[in-house]
Amino acid sequence: MILDGKATAAAIRADLRQYVSREKERAGRAPRLAVILVGEDPASQVYVRNKENACADAGIDTASYRLPASTPQAELEAFIAGLNADPEIDGILLQLPLPEGLDAQPCIDAISPEKDVDGLTAVNQGRTAMNVPGLRPCTPAGILALLDRYGISVSGKKAVVLGRSILVGRPIALMLGAKGYDATVTMCHSRTPDLAAVCREADIIIAAIGKPRFVTADMVKPGAVIIDVGINRGEDGKLCGDVDYENVASLASAITPVPGGIGPMTISQLLVNTTEAWKKKFLG
Ligand code: NAP
Repeated sequence: MILDGKATAAAIRADLRQYVSREKERAGRAPRLAVILVGEDPASQVYVRNKENACADAGIDTASYRLPASTPQAELEAFIAGLNADPEIDGILLQLPLPEGLDAQPCIDAISPEKDVDGLTAVNQGRTAMNVPGLRPCTPAGILALLDRYGISVSGKKAVVLGRSILVGRPIALMLGAKGYDATVTMCHSRTPDLAAVCREADIIIAAIGKPRFVTADMVKPGAVIIDVGINRGEDGKLCGDVDYENVASLASAITPVPGGIGPMTISQLLVNTTEAWKKKFLG
């Protein structure tokens, strides 16, 4: 089974569009996301445009701010503080990576936790770790939403997460292992010995390492569920994931493609989080 993130994300956007159009009169206005892009990184410009288009599709307004790469750290943090105080803004997205010279985490932590729709502030990472309510990081939450839409339960399953970043690996490992999801999780990284043997034990593999086609068929137990988070350029110049899709797909019981898998789900989760932040403010 191919887990179609593109179609699922479109269905989520349609649900949100309906919800927002139904509730915006009661709330007084539509949800509004502030999008900050610092510098002119071409890939980031594409990502930001995709997110703005997705917002428009769901009936979410955006306020876009393009700042020069030379913006000093203190100025960027003060800019974010201004958006925190702006009652017209429900969510703040700071596009990463930041240009060289800017330290990302203090800027992320400058975002009010209630407007942190990327779920990356220390406060929301802490809430994720504690499994208490709060805005969750988009990629991990998007993975769980996709599994949920396809009726794939992780309860009682052995999950192996490749990668331990704050963005993906660490929070998805925590979320899969939390009460309610109840998977038994192994989180791996570049120092994990005999990764292939660890992966072969897995009922579910989440690959988030950023290495083209790293997970090969000999690392996969037949029937495993494969979630490929990686976005890479292969040697052939083609976009590919962290999984050798051609050879792994026939072994897996379910697999996400790249592109069209977790990428669109990450964006739809940003919209879900923005709507949640708006809803909490206006609708309780
Ligand atoms: P990251 O911050 O670079 O982290 C990579 C992680 O992979 C690190 O924990 C690293 O281990 C581990 N790793 C690297 N090589 C490894 C190896 N050979 N064996 C085992 N572990 C290894 O990357 P990230 O931000 O998590 O992103 C990972 C990938 O997902 C990238 O391709 C990125 O583009 C993609 N991504 C996609 C989406 C989406 O929407 N689809 C969203 C976010 C990220 P150490 O900690 O030991 O260094």
